[in-house]
Amino acid sequence: MMTNRQLFLEHVAQTSKAPLMLEIVKASGTSLFDATGKSYTDLISGIAVSNIGHCHPAVTDAVKNQLEHYMHLMVYGEFVQTPQVLLAKALSELLPPELGCTYFVNSGAEAIEGALKLAKRYTNKTGIISFKNAYHGSTHGALSLMSNEYFKNAFRPLLPGARYLDFNKISDLEFIGSDTACVVVEMIQGEAGAIPADPFFMTALRERCTEKGALLVADEVQTGFGRTGSFFAFSSYKVVPDILVLGKGMGGGMPIGAFISSRTIMDSFTDHPALGHITTFGGHPVCCAASRATLEVIRKMDISQIAGMVETMVREKLQHHAIRNISGKGLMLAAEFENAYINRQIIEKCLRQGVLTDWFLFAPEKMRIAPPLVIEPAVLERALDTILDCIGSTIN
Ligand code: PMP
Repeated sequence: MMTNRQLFLEHVAQTSKAPLMLEIVKASGTSLFDATGKSYTDLISGIAVSNIGHCHPAVTDAVKNQLEHYMHLMVYGEFVQTPQVLLAKALSELLPPELGCTYFVNSGAEAIEGALKLAKRYTNKTGIISFKNAYHGSTHGALSLMSNEYFKNAFRPLLPGARYLDFNKISDLEFIGSDTACVVVEMIQGEAGAIPADPFFMTALRERCTEKGALLVADEVQTGFGRTGSFFAFSSYKVVPDILVLGKGMGGGMPIGAFISSRTIMDSFTDHPALGHITTFGGHPVCCAASRATLEVIRKMDISQIAGMVETMVREKLQHHAIRNISGKGLMLAAEFENAYINRQIIEKCLRQGVLTDWFLFAPEKMRIAPPLVIEPAVLERALDTILDCIGSTIN
């Protein structure tokens, strides 16, 4: 009989020649357990998803409760579904009034697609601007926002009218013109290796978008739901986007995304054409119930204190001459090594020692440190000690 590992390689589509191949049988809090009983401390949260840890009881209870009422009923937007309504209301309570209307989708990329379509429809313009080294998803529209040729070139033709500006370079903002429908930005560029936006840059970006009538789209797929120390990262920049894009941590481990705007902007999806964005499963009731439970858990946490504690501990503990710098904020951090080869070696050693970290799509020389918000200080300290040991045995 074939093992699960063999079946995985035979029948499950692969996107890399070297998948991690961990076979996890249980996950709880910040620990993953494999088929041999070995445990791993999760320092990456399934890439910014498990913000409140794996299988949080509030989420599993909400899922079970919703399963007993109903699952899928109807395609998006037709029925009044309590889990959607309550989640939309809870989100609006956390957001300024201009962001009071939520469109629920299935993923971060779908939320980006929706935001791009909404911006084009509302402004009646076609220009789309993003920033170099940004990552907004892997579907055609989202891929069009990516500057990196290696990952996108094979999939051309992509959306025409996309343009990439230098992140944090105020003089580049002059390229936002009267033909620009929207500018999509991450408050902290994730896959570039946890690079925060400069506050002056964000203010200038907001002003330029307003001046030119372009919608500002904040992609908070990674930064949202508490990861950087505030519920949404844009609030620490004192700018309000026209469209807020969410995903990942929003579902507490269940798949859900959203794009959020004002009722006026969102209403442009209702005519010319009607049904401006269609999704069958978007806003799935079970995922919405899980998301509301997640939101309530995070709302009760002192996220600013937790983010401060984790960031300070990582910066103070990870002192080694091989680490060139630590970038990022809160629980979205990156430790930079001399090159990708050294980083890979250290990551592999950490994995063998039971600590799960990762590299970044556009920064393979950086190690990702993005644990769940529920990580205990002692657990984090042990994991950081392991990283230091692995650095020590790699670098002479
Ligand atoms: N935006 C950002 C900032 C992301 O990090 C990601 C995923 N890494 C996405 C969008 C796309 O999300 P998804 O993988 O759910 O489509």
